Amino acid sequence: MTTIVKALQAVQARILQAAIQCGRDPQSIALIAVSKTVDADVLRLAYGAGQHVFGESYVQEAVHKIAALQDLAIEWHFIGPLQSNKTKAVAENFTWVHSVERAKITQRLSEQRPKDLPALNVCLQVNVSGEASKSGVAPAEVLALAQAVAALPKIKLRGLMTIPEATDDVAKQHAQFRLLRELRDDLNARSFALDTLSMGMSGDLEAAIAEGATLVRVGSAIFGERVKTEKA
Ligand SMILES: *Cc1c(COP(=O)(O)O)cnc(C)c1O
Repeated sequence: MTTIVKALQAVQARILQAAIQCGRDPQSIALIAVSKTVDADVLRLAYGAGQHVFGESYVQEAVHKIAALQDLAIEWHFIGPLQSNKTKAVAENFTWVHSVERAKITQRLSEQRPKDLPALNVCLQVNVSGEASKSGVAPAEVLALAQAVAALPKIKLRGLMTIPEATDDVAKQHAQFRLLRELRDDLNARSFALDTLSMGMSGDLEAAIAEGATLVRVGSAIFGERVKTEKA
């Protein structure tokens, strides 16, 4: 058995264990294999082992892989920074976008979403750590963005996403994920119906699941450490 297949099984076992530990249904948590910088033939291998949901961060790289893997029934999630000159490719090629932080860009996604495709599923990216270097809207801006995005015809607002401050402090991991869950619950108390919390990566998926993650985005624990020459 290949390393990738073993690593996938190990991550699935971690998700299962984390779900059991906090009394959640493991079926309520989906694994997104984050495949940025990973070659299409490796994705094909992971697909053969049962992984059908992949996350990509770089539009051009993703579009090439999506074309190369067109024969597979992959669900593609865009999780990277989104510029306005790339929205068309994203609207045409992906099922989900996790990294929405501006109403204007989301309006472009809605306008450019092909008529024959269902609405694009989106999550609003929230900066829960307050680090200046982090993408995402501030917690205080989430409601206004949610209202703007929910009004768009070819967009389906599904939930919230975050990339927290990386830390080994488990209590701090929990606090950041808890904040995202509370923001989601606040929106749902105001008549939104958000079913998604996209949170948890290779190093902190247990804390994220304990705090309610429904989508975990895992890269290096499956595919190995990425080489640092990531291309946009
Ligand atoms: C790269 C990336 C991940 C995966 O991170 P790992 O630590 O490799 O699991 C998850 N989410 C986003 C938005 C990413 O860019």
